[in-house]
Amino acid sequence: MQIQMKKEEIVASKCIQQKSKISEHAISIRNCIFCRIVKGEIPCARIFEDDKVISFLDISPANKGHALIVTKGHYETLLEIPDEVLLDVMSKAKKIARAMSSALGNKGFNIVMNNGKAAGQIVPHAHIHIIPRFDRDGMNVDWKHKKYNDKEIDEFRGKITRFL
Ligand code: AMP
Ligand code: ZN
Repeated sequence: MQIQMKKEEIVASKCIQQKSKISEHAISIRNCIFCRIVKGEIPCARIFEDDKVISFLDISPANKGHALIVTKGHYETLLEIPDEVLLDVMSKAKKIARAMSSALGNKGFNIVMNNGKAAGQIVPHAHIHIIPRFDRDGMNVDWKHKKYNDKEIDEFRGKITRFL
């Protein structure tokens, strides 16, 4: 027997789905360590704050002075951050990297953003790492370079450009 839903039932079920998405979001914000830092519920070594971002020192730094730039809104990864917020995040990353280099005398810095568990993201609230770098500081962001087989690079280029 075919079950047909009335228009009102479809609307009601969509509403329920929407509500449960909203409550899932609320729960993840309540439990989110960076949201709690934004709200001032957990202390941090804050170095900068404005209406869209907060920046504080990473509690387990790759090098001393390692800073995080965290969006004040709860977005899980880069892909959820609205463009206007992202522009602000990147401009503040530049400001902080410059200040850090003046203060610590580092000759370089790495900007790292882990997006998703597979990429090593531990805290599911979007953030950028700025890590001061010194000669022979023992830190390694090296990876093993892989090789494409014949024509494979064109296949990958084609696959990705189809979505752009
Ligand atoms: P990620 O792997 O990109 O999610 O990195 C999360 C980073 O947050 C790690 O480098 C942690 O050391 C750092 N972290 C976690 N909790 C705190 C905290 N309460 N204050 C400062 N940094 C933190
Ligand atoms: Zn959060």
